[in-house]
Amino acid sequence: MQDANRITEQAPKFAADRMLVRLARWLRLMGADVVCDPALSGAALLRLARQEGRPLLTRDKRLRTAPDVFYIEPHLFRDQIREVMAYYPFDPYRFAFTRCSICNHLLKQVPRSAVARSIPPFVYAAHQNFALCEQCNRIHWSASHVERAMREIEALRPDRP
Ligand SMILES: [Zn+2]
Repeated sequence: MQDANRITEQAPKFAADRMLVRLARWLRLMGADVVCDPALSGAALLRLARQEGRPLLTRDKRLRTAPDVFYIEPHLFRDQIREVMAYYPFDPYRFAFTRCSICNHLLKQVPRSAVARSIPPFVYAAHQNFALCEQCNRIHWSASHVERAMREIEALRPDRP
């Protein structure tokens, strides 16, 4: 059963510990705002998460009973996504492709013609929508792996009939 009241209107915000880098990248692909800095200690990350009102996603068992912490038991990232989506439901279609999966900065949509010289010709030929991360200077495109990810995520949604 779909619990529409819990589906957020805003892209959700999280902090994720260094054990969850892959999960963090997937959540960013889905549009979530995820702070994940392996250079931060666990205590520093928890402090930052609380300051910014971000639930901390962690695999650290010592934190499992702490408030504002979501302990992630599964090892496989697909199971991890399923758990996060079950507890913090949001619409990945609505927010996908808005955030850099590598550094979490917001993406800026750029005209296709503007990136022609910066990307491989086969990528240019195959895609229409491009975006630039002004933080790390990567060019992102709405690649087939994002679409595949969305299909997979759709299949994982716990509210699926
Ligand atoms: Zn970036």
